[in-house]
Amino acid sequence: MKLASNRPARAALIALCGLLTWLVVVHSGLVGDYVGFVVVAIAYFAVVTMAVSMLAGYCGIWPIGHTAFTATGAYLTVNLGLAGLPIEAIVPIAVVTAAVIGYLLGMTAGRFSILYFGLLTLALSLAAFEVIGRWDQFTGGEHGIVVPAIPSLLAGRPIGLTDATGFTLIVATVAFMAVDLVCRGPVGRRWLAIKSQRIASMACGFVPPRENATAFGFSAGLAAMSGCAMAIAIGYLDPEGFSLNAGVTMLVATVVGGTGSILGAIFGAAFIVGVPELARGTSNVAPFIYGGAMILVLLFLRKGVVPSIIELLSGGSRGARMKAAGQGAARGGDLAALVADVLPNRGSDLVIEDVSVAFGGVKALQNVSITVPAGRAIGLIGPNGSGKTTLLNVLSGFVKPKSVGTLKVGSVDLQGLAPWVRIEAGFGRTFQHAELFGELTIRDALRVVARQGRASRLAAGRTLVDADAVAERIIAGLGLGEVADSKPHFLPFGIQKVADIARALAGGAGVLALDEPFSGLDADESAKLRAILRELRQAGVTILIIDHVVHEIFDLAESVYVLDFGSVIAHGTPAEIRANPKVREAYFGITETAEAQHA
Ligand code: ADP
Ligand code: MG
Repeated sequence: MKLASNRPARAALIALCGLLTWLVVVHSGLVGDYVGFVVVAIAYFAVVTMAVSMLAGYCGIWPIGHTAFTATGAYLTVNLGLAGLPIEAIVPIAVVTAAVIGYLLGMTAGRFSILYFGLLTLALSLAAFEVIGRWDQFTGGEHGIVVPAIPSLLAGRPIGLTDATGFTLIVATVAFMAVDLVCRGPVGRRWLAIKSQRIASMACGFVPPRENATAFGFSAGLAAMSGCAMAIAIGYLDPEGFSLNAGVTMLVATVVGGTGSILGAIFGAAFIVGVPELARGTSNVAPFIYGGAMILVLLFLRKGVVPSIIELLSGGSRGARMKAAGQGAARGGDLAALVADVLPNRGSDLVIEDVSVAFGGVKALQNVSITVPAGRAIGLIGPNGSGKTTLLNVLSGFVKPKSVGTLKVGSVDLQGLAPWVRIEAGFGRTFQHAELFGELTIRDALRVVARQGRASRLAAGRTLVDADAVAERIIAGLGLGEVADSKPHFLPFGIQKVADIARALAGGAGVLALDEPFSGLDADESAKLRAILRELRQAGVTILIIDHVVHEIFDLAESVYVLDFGSVIAHGTPAEIRANPKVREAYFGITETAEAQHA
């Protein structure tokens, strides 16, 4: 198994690196006090940089001032230490305190957009700085506070400055192991999925506000750990260390080192520790170097120094290879068996009655009623802007209808359900532009979505429950084997469309709504998709298919609805629709072109 995906091996490697650093710094005799001091500073800055970098890299959240949480760790260390608590209790208390505050604040910010997180941390940092300056008893006010020797159960005596190297390296090692375990597992994949496609992720069962808040809480806990280490290592807490400036410095470290990477965080921390050390004696040159370095990195190494170097070393040609391999993927499966094994609920119908949607003055949908009987395929056609995607967005819970009669999947009423609950009811959908999770490989995306569908499969007594096994079955069944380890933007559009269907199936969709699956595909890709959809329908999957490629709809669907300016203007068998003069008028150009192409 590769190191990249073997989390226990990686955890062991991180622990080994921590131990080796400690041996070299403390016991080898090779390292003087000054270098030791620099290494310790890099270690505690690397932890808080990692807290920032993890949020930026995995969630797209840029915390401007994480210093409120470092301060929480640092001042709790002093005050709980003064109260006689051992360091082994103080660190967990500080981490949990910061994490809970972070989570609760994150729940409020996460309801809006991830930009609020940045503003929130800015406000927190400014407020915390004021509080630190005024809360004399807890912080020593503007004059700062000396860190006392803190009792330690493991050391069997109070620890202080002389123990800083060991303590800081332990803190950093534990923090990095935690980050690696969390971020390289399903949790990190969920975060990446949400970061890549927030809207589409909700249709797969992910809950962006909750996941963002969890990540923010986790990151706050890491920042507090760094604060504890800082307190012990510096021995004196100066409020300036928690100013907005200090928070911005973490951003510099994150941008320069590279987001979401442990080595990046260490590199970034070394940069922000190293520059002022090297520029000692020159007045205020560090901010210029920080600014210049950020500009250079953003211009020439957008992912940051470390990820860019890693990409260079690993060849960077993976995408091109995958592109070449993409087209030939052979289907290895019997979709009827696949559907029977992995879909929790087939045989549900989809009932839409009297749905109306208005965007300001635009009546996007007017009293639209469509029924898709269980296990059948129904088509929906209509010119651009006629409201087709809006209808799917109502079904997904992304658009709130002005009024609605019925919106049901089987016996489940979708009205009032959060978007992420609808896949549990068996409703899944695809997107006009596929909207796959750009930062995950196809395999990782299917695995993490299949985890969301696990409870439903279990409840329905399906033979295949394990998420990874479900993902593999779907990969084989839909012929995605050759492309499973590549990221979607390297793949031809036709394969992306199939992967989008695969994702809905992984989530457990027995009722599938497809938004223009055939648009933009070449003849070969269309043929493959057509075969897949026919088999899915035969296997009992309920399908609502929207497309402009009318002949494909007429081929697959037993009856077709026609939408024009938000209203259903016709409904009938493909033959009836083809002959309907109203439809020919509304749809003239497109039908003619499509038929001409087909002929
Ligand atoms: P279709 O998928 O049939 O091409 P859409 O459902 O995307 O059409 O759009 C129907 C109408 O609603 C269009 O006039 C479009 O501009 C409008 N519309 C769609 N989504 C929004 C939105 N979020 N805000 C405002 N107007 C929208
Ligand atoms: Mg559309």
